[in-house]
Amino acid sequence: MKVLIADDDAVSRTVLKRTVEKLGHECLVGEDGLQAWEIYQRTHDVEVIVSDWMMPNMDGLELCRSVRGLERAGGYTFFVFLTALGGKDHLLEGMQAGADEYLTKPLDAEQLRAKLIAASRVSSLHRHMKVEGIAETVGDQGGAPKAGVRTPKSTRRQGRPQAGTKTWDILVSQGKLTEEQVKQALEFQEESPMDLGQALVSLGFISEADLARAQAQRLNLEYVELTEADVDSEALSLVPEKLLRRHNALPLYREDGRLVVAMSDPTDIHALDDLRVSCGCAIVPVVTTEENLQRMQTMVFSVGDQVAEILEEAAGPEAESTGELELGAGTEANEAPVVRLVSSILQRAVGEGASDIHLEPQAQELTVRLRMDGVLRELMSVPPKLQSGVVARLKVLANLDIAERRVPQDGRFSVRLAGKKVDLRVATLPTVFGEEVVLRLLDTSTLKSDLTELGFTPADFERYKKIFERPYGTILVTGPTGSGKSTTLYATLKRLNSPNRKIITIEDPVEYRMGGINQIQVNPKAGLTFASGLRSILRNDPDVVMVGEIRDTETAKTAVEAALTGHLVLATLHTNDAPGALSRLTEMGVEPFLIASAVDCVIAQRLVRRLCESCKRPAQIDDEVIAELGLSPEVLAERELRFYESLGCAQCGGTGYRGRTGLYELMVVTDPVKDLILRRASAAEISRIAEEEGMTRLRDDGMLKAASGITTIQEVLRTVV
Ligand SMILES: [Zn+2]
Repeated sequence: MKVLIADDDAVSRTVLKRTVEKLGHECLVGEDGLQAWEIYQRTHDVEVIVSDWMMPNMDGLELCRSVRGLERAGGYTFFVFLTALGGKDHLLEGMQAGADEYLTKPLDAEQLRAKLIAASRVSSLHRHMKVEGIAETVGDQGGAPKAGVRTPKSTRRQGRPQAGTKTWDILVSQGKLTEEQVKQALEFQEESPMDLGQALVSLGFISEADLARAQAQRLNLEYVELTEADVDSEALSLVPEKLLRRHNALPLYREDGRLVVAMSDPTDIHALDDLRVSCGCAIVPVVTTEENLQRMQTMVFSVGDQVAEILEEAAGPEAESTGELELGAGTEANEAPVVRLVSSILQRAVGEGASDIHLEPQAQELTVRLRMDGVLRELMSVPPKLQSGVVARLKVLANLDIAERRVPQDGRFSVRLAGKKVDLRVATLPTVFGEEVVLRLLDTSTLKSDLTELGFTPADFERYKKIFERPYGTILVTGPTGSGKSTTLYATLKRLNSPNRKIITIEDPVEYRMGGINQIQVNPKAGLTFASGLRSILRNDPDVVMVGEIRDTETAKTAVEAALTGHLVLATLHTNDAPGALSRLTEMGVEPFLIASAVDCVIAQRLVRRLCESCKRPAQIDDEVIAELGLSPEVLAERELRFYESLGCAQCGGTGYRGRTGLYELMVVTDPVKDLILRRASAAEISRIAEEEGMTRLRDDGMLKAASGITTIQEVLRTVV
């Protein structure tokens, strides 16, 4: 490396020169600022300048500014100031002029060495980009993407400052940092040697993301916040996992014969070299935080082998060999990627708490989507050469006939991940492009939620509690598929579960297994239907009965009878709102007087996604919109309510939402409501009276939750008709 020294003090110059040369670098010397400046202008490849502060003719500050003014695209000169101890104000001024680092006098050789290493990294990176012809792409000012340059989906481009703008400068100008804080960090840095950026993070002045973003700007690189949508499996396959883990890197996509790679330390030139050799093409680094990168790596790489082992165990040796026969179309080397890929898909689905995995054949590829929090989201595309292998592998695991591709099949298998067992129900469906596979994850360990955590308002919870604590009666939960009905019922059962109560359920399917409760799976082939099962259950003297779903007249009548003969019956029905459930029972042929005396309450519900706590922020909603929703700005202010929105962050995978909560409409069958049932009143009429009796409509409960910053208006409107 070529190092230029600017110092008017002869002794200091000599010491510096000797130290630099001892470290193996070429050394040029200017006896004052002006001389150094002249040398710099004639010499094109000076990579580091170590400059004194006070010098005749041209001082260090001016030298620094001049150097920054001359810098060419792609070239970068690392500027280190020499300063006497205690000159903190100077220091800040120097940094603002564009210096990268500072050294205190008297000179410490070890410190100088550390700065030179830092300098060589930054300068290697710039050289690397120049050699690879990347400088024009990543170094263009202003930040407008060049034609044909693909930007990762989640990237927010920052305006690109001139080369030489410093990390702290950027942060100060963005108002994320004050000069006072920089001074404090500089002081702190003296006590515990670390780089200034790390010091700023350690002191809590800025976040890792702020730092990474600013560093990206400083290096003229792109900053990305990765989500899984940014990872392209084809790019990923270009570099071995081991190497990516070692260097904290993740390939994103190929572009013009170059590979764009996210890195937490893009100045790590060894990593760049390794990656380049490994994939055989030029590397374009983009910057992300270490935390983001590691999270993505965990997501992308399965804990792989471990899961694969488990899966092989689950499949059994016999099934496994069948699978290999089917996969035999490819070579042996092709089998391992299939197994790995399937394992990693399963791992990610389980790890992220997905409820379903959809593998859908398209004309060109197999799309993999996950249903998370009720919404489908694309995970990846399986390349054509692995497609049949992936489908076959899943069929092997589920014990299906892999040769049969024309008729739908279903089966199941289990995986265990970090001590958690997950059952998967697998269904295949022949489509025009090939077999579609849908896996439903039945997480037998996930029922951790208590009834109070599902989304009931405290008032509704109290009303509901009075009802489920009664020894007999009927509780109906209603809503479309996927509205969380089972969770509410299970959470209620969990409350009721005690040694002095006998609880029996009949379900299709048994979604959660609960200790202390007798659960029966419907099996129509064996003659075990909801109706016949319920009758058998009643002969077994239960206290509490749960019926998965009331679908037919016989089940409806038997359930009502059970409630009237001293049992507490819990069941689900398929209606849109709570009053609708009563009309539904009437339509099924249950006598109104039986309904009026047997049913205690009906709960209608929906699930909405919760706003991500990490990235939500107050939203500005027009008063007009608020009024349309049946709220007024005055009421909001009075109750201290506030709408929120979110941008999406690494925590929520860029969706802005994390987890779900229930919207509830609790209708208690009070005397006035009973009268209406007996008079066969319409659902609308019942609804009006029930509201007078304290029922909150689903939509109103939703709007209240939106106004409390739990969810958004869009979510409520999406789920409540
Ligand atoms: Zn978020």
